[in-house]
Amino acid sequence: MSRVEEIIELFAARGDSQYGGEAVTQLEHALQAALLAEQEQAPPELIVAALLHDVGHLLHDLPADAPDAGIDDRHENSAANYLCRHFPQRVVEPVRLHVPAKRYLCAIDAQYMQSLSQPSVVSLALQGGPMSAEEVAEFARHPYADDAVRLRRWDDAAKIPRLPTPPLAHFARYVRQTVLKSSPV
Ligand code: FE
Repeated sequence: MSRVEEIIELFAARGDSQYGGEAVTQLEHALQAALLAEQEQAPPELIVAALLHDVGHLLHDLPADAPDAGIDDRHENSAANYLCRHFPQRVVEPVRLHVPAKRYLCAIDAQYMQSLSQPSVVSLALQGGPMSAEEVAEFARHPYADDAVRLRRWDDAAKIPRLPTPPLAHFARYVRQTVLKSSPV
């Protein structure tokens, strides 16, 4: 099975699970995030990052309401560890940083924090709350900080019930375009 097929399989098998207390499934959330990236004419790597940023949720067996039980699944790390074997850094690093990007935005933008959904507020506390001033400065120096913030804003907006989107097959082209040629098939 090719990497692209493996990813499509993962969504086919598990993508209809609920997206962490929101009114969309994992697949709907992924497609909406990727669509927002495409609409902003983001580079293919960032469209793929948007599509696959929560693949970590599909790689474990924790329930979607794990944060309510005080469990942080660290899905940004499991996703990045999976993706780094098959995709370039411009895909992997924004995914790894998409939770820190939320903590960053909460620290620098009071309006952003107020706009978070209730499940996102619950998980924020588990993820360490808003960044300290030192953490903000360190995050901003990261070469992929801007990409991670863009991804974060698509992530936060990709929670609209029943929003029509193109199917997964539409975005598979970007996965094919960015997957490392040396990736094991
Ligand atoms: Fe997400």
